[in-house]
Amino acid sequence: MTTVRIAASLAAAISLLERSPKTGAPSDTMFDMMVADYKKALQEWRVAEANCGATCEWWNDGEMWESSCGVAYVFNSDGPEDNGHRFCHKCGKPIAIGETPK
Ligand SMILES: [Zn+2]
Repeated sequence: MTTVRIAASLAAAISLLERSPKTGAPSDTMFDMMVADYKKALQEWRVAEANCGATCEWWNDGEMWESSCGVAYVFNSDGPEDNGHRFCHKCGKPIAIGETPK
């Protein structure tokens, strides 16, 4: 997967920079800024990757459908699947039909 290779490259670049003598860099300030930029990019990628596969869980609570992100929704008949709802209108994640909490 391309994104995994990108993350591995970023992690390797950070590790290399952190292990390099600072005298080899243009300045301590620039060195620190480069490390900080790489770390920020890697963290942003990790957050995006973590959210990528996530779903919003919906369950039927009697008349109402509720979701893990706080949606309370009523269909005239049936549920999300039968009404063509594939994505949550609040959080935008794909809907996963879950068990009604006891
Ligand atoms: Zn949602």
